[in-house]
Amino acid sequence: MSDYLIRLGQQPALRNVIKSIGLPTPVELARGKGSYDARLLAGKTVLLGAGQNATAVKALEAALSDSGAKPARADKPEPAKGARYDALVFDATGMQSAGELKALYNFFHPVVRRMNRCGRVLVLADHPDKLDDPQRATAARAVEGFVRSVGKEIGKGGSTANLLYVEPGAQDRIEGPLRFFLSEHSAYVDGQPVRISAGGAMPEEVAFSGALKGKVALVTGGARGIGAATARRLAAEGAQVVCLDLPADQETLNATVSEIGGTALPLNITDDSAPRDIAKFLQDKFGGVDIVVHNAGVTRDKTLANMPEKHWDMVLSINLLAILAIDKVLLGDKVINEHGRIICLSSIGGIAGNMGQTNYGATKAGLIGYVQSQSQTLGERSITLNAVAPGFIETRMTAEMPFMIREAGRRMNSLSQGGQPEDVAELITFLSTPGAGGISGNVIRVCGQSLIGA
Ligand code: NAD
Repeated sequence: MSDYLIRLGQQPALRNVIKSIGLPTPVELARGKGSYDARLLAGKTVLLGAGQNATAVKALEAALSDSGAKPARADKPEPAKGARYDALVFDATGMQSAGELKALYNFFHPVVRRMNRCGRVLVLADHPDKLDDPQRATAARAVEGFVRSVGKEIGKGGSTANLLYVEPGAQDRIEGPLRFFLSEHSAYVDGQPVRISAGGAMPEEVAFSGALKGKVALVTGGARGIGAATARRLAAEGAQVVCLDLPADQETLNATVSEIGGTALPLNITDDSAPRDIAKFLQDKFGGVDIVVHNAGVTRDKTLANMPEKHWDMVLSINLLAILAIDKVLLGDKVINEHGRIICLSSIGGIAGNMGQTNYGATKAGLIGYVQSQSQTLGERSITLNAVAPGFIETRMTAEMPFMIREAGRRMNSLSQGGQPEDVAELITFLSTPGAGGISGNVIRVCGQSLIGA
């Protein structure tokens, strides 16, 4: 789906007209193409700074040079004339008190204007919930407000700001997230705090290219939309992908599957027999599964007073109950392999609620509760479980909205534009990789830092 303001704004004369009538002039986002490169950040100019007690600097320096970036270190930069940066990275871990927050100002103030278009701000901090000392917890939590605010200031240039909360002992798990958040693959993920924990074991080998070679992935609702984009992206990373969709959609399903050399599984996930049928299929054909993406979902919007019971039941059964039933069997029967990855598609509708979506909002919020609770039981098998919450994504569903509602949804975020299904697929793919082993129980939005539910 193309965005007329991005298209028109590419012509300098029209860009000025658009600006003069007060409309936004969103930047066309630089997006990652194809699969991950081992030197994903090659050629990127990265400025790295750190607070006085920072604990992750060494790990950051190693990860940056391993990924091909050119890091320069400066805690209080005095940039040379004309110096420009693709990314500004600051290690704010180890802060003992709020007074140390001045280090953020000292680092960012002189250089924030010197970021290239579609640049990246990434800050690391301790996770406040893991700190007993109120002084330290205050400083760590303050960093989140700083990052969210920076995101709102730099979004006009297509740039993003994200935060990695690093739990004690998880410093050696930052390379995967660092690569993703500094690369063009995270173009529409903005204003997100992501927790990296030391729970569960990391895989012995963490490959950063061909990251999913030898892995088997199941994508429900994989015939079209976000599911098909995810299937393509997982396959590009080397996974063998099983796309599940309704038997009535077999033609579209077959087309998607043949494009990626995947396997079709025509099935309705709400059938009583679905969990067992899926488990048997994956076990017989592949001996198990490594990645499960619970993407199939529907909306049946009506205000509560007008909502027929069948709309309530249908949305609840597809978007929530089927997922719980499938996971019960796949986890219970150990069909999901060690170091497995489960990703549930939530929504900002599940975070903020939405008029006419009591059924949908309940299911998408329910998934958040499920992810946060169930993830705590999976560490022993090193399986991670996360939720991805898309904001306004340019799909068939959003194309059908009335113009004014569509425009409001599309523009009310820091990047002043909607996301693409591929942006959601990128986040799901990252969470599926071995390098994301430190991320579990998180709800990560892919919403361009939407104002809704923020
Ligand atoms: P879509 O309608 O394009 O695709 C959903 C797919 O799920 C379809 O192919 C459909 O046939 C399949 N499906 C539905 N019921 C099924 C069932 N019972 N069994 C098997 N397959 C079934 O939707 P989309 O826009 O790509 O959304 C994908 C997911 O992302 C959904 O969970 C949705 O709630 C979520 N999401 C989308 C947006 C957005 O802006 N598009 C925003 C937030 C969340």
